[in-house]
Amino acid sequence: MAEQKYDVIVIGGGPGGYAAAFMAADLGMQAALVDPEENPGGVCLYRGCIPSKALLHVVKLKQEALEASEFGLSFDEPDINVKKVREWKNSVVQKLVGGLGQLSKKRKVEHIRGVAKFTDANTLEVEHDGKSQEVSFEHAIIATGSEPASIPGLEFSKNIMSSASALDLPDVPDSLLVVGAGYIGLEIGSVYAGMGSKVSVVEMTDMLMPGADRDLVDVFAKRNKELFEEIMLETKVAEISGKRKLKVKLEGKHEGEYKFDKVLIAIGRKPRTKNLGLENTQVETDDKGFIKVNEQRQTAESNIYAIGDVSGEPMLAHKASHEGKIAAEAIAGGKVAYEPKAIPAVVYTDPEIAWCGITENEAKAQDIPIKVVKFPWAASGRAATLGRSDGLTKLIFDPDTERILGVGIAGKNAGDLIPEAVLAVEMAAVAKDFSLSIHPHPTLSETIMEAADVLYGQATHIYRPKRKKK
Ligand SMILES: Cc1cc2nc3c(=O)[nH]c(=O)nc-3n(C[C@H](O)[C@H](O)[C@H](O)COP(=O)(O)OP(=O)(O)OC[C@H]3O[C@@H](n4cnc5c(N)ncnc54)[C@H](O)[C@@H]3O)c2cc1C
Repeated sequence: MAEQKYDVIVIGGGPGGYAAAFMAADLGMQAALVDPEENPGGVCLYRGCIPSKALLHVVKLKQEALEASEFGLSFDEPDINVKKVREWKNSVVQKLVGGLGQLSKKRKVEHIRGVAKFTDANTLEVEHDGKSQEVSFEHAIIATGSEPASIPGLEFSKNIMSSASALDLPDVPDSLLVVGAGYIGLEIGSVYAGMGSKVSVVEMTDMLMPGADRDLVDVFAKRNKELFEEIMLETKVAEISGKRKLKVKLEGKHEGEYKFDKVLIAIGRKPRTKNLGLENTQVETDDKGFIKVNEQRQTAESNIYAIGDVSGEPMLAHKASHEGKIAAEAIAGGKVAYEPKAIPAVVYTDPEIAWCGITENEAKAQDIPIKVVKFPWAASGRAATLGRSDGLTKLIFDPDTERILGVGIAGKNAGDLIPEAVLAVEMAAVAKDFSLSIHPHPTLSETIMEAADVLYGQATHIYRPKRKKK
């Protein structure tokens, strides 16, 4: 018999799950969170967003130190102590997950350690350390996230790494092949290259960061020409053999056999629903394995909700947290719906690439009429003071109404600039709103204002000769 019945039980302690559990508690419900770890955090904090950004910070700092000689500031070649870097990265993770544990306790969210499985639509069986307990609930929120996809026939191992094992930073191999040039592959590839590995990248499509607009990716490619040994587009891995030195057979444009010490497989992620006992409920999944939900994130089983990576793309932490709060509020009877117009995406490489709303690629594919204006950072005073004039800001808007539909930024701290654009898209701002909002000088945010000014031929820092009247 189950001992206690929770108002809401959340399965999975990632950014979706803990945001949902905390919101449920804030709304006065008795909430519990089930997760195998001692503290909430999920993939994002333990094996994703946070460790990758901590490591990227280290290699960015190293690069900046090397480039500082241009400004008259010279350092010796930075010496990387991998053990210390690893310890520092782990300490950042521990500090954050510990903080979440405290927040959980303060809110009186019951943290149940273990792996959960539905036995019916109101009961879970939770297993931990060989022991099992039954927990019953009025409502459940599934937030079990996702896991790295692997290449069929290839098992992850010590030398064939997933993003999770690569972020453990076991060592810095002499050579590394990154399979997949999406954001995870390029971020972790940048870390290893910055630490001294010879990193090559292989990608099936014809571009880096598939999905992002090419002009933004070009800014990344230009700065990172030297970072990677080789970038092999339109090529895929056919076979990997060998133990100590891996023999990798590639097919496509760069067909051949290559040797690497390690391989990182970063070809995407898949929703995690295996062994969850969904068959004991009415919860349905789609053909990609994502749990089907409505705008309140409610599944086909009316008291069970699903949020985050397990409920669909984009698989991003902030989308998961937003959904978590919506689901908790919907359970509490709130009139809420998940209907974002702009979910920001940020790639934390150097330069960062960030975008929100519609991209040029999407507009083209969906035949949506758009107008695009661009402001090159070569004309930004702030970018010059940072020695980083290599950026680009572009606005995508409706040609008739001038409503902002999307924004793309490539450059230093692009991720910190994109929220202004998110607000603009969500609030149906028009280009003139950017122009008429006074932006602080000198900041990189001015590039957004001046990109809008470009539309009216009035960007202060760009001279465009007037067209002669006919
Ligand atoms: C290398 C890497 C870098 C990333 N960087 C970023 C970034 O910079 N920004 C960003 O927005 N996103 C980033 N992501 C994606 C981000 O991590 C995910 O979108 C986010 O973690 C999804 O949150 P979630 O709550 O859906 O689930 P997750 O964070 O995946 O957490 C799910 C939790 O559920 C637990 N669980 C699974 N099954 C069960 C079960 N049966 N019972 C109990 N618990 C269970 C898991 O152990 C896990 O703790 C990155 C991902 C990776 C891999």
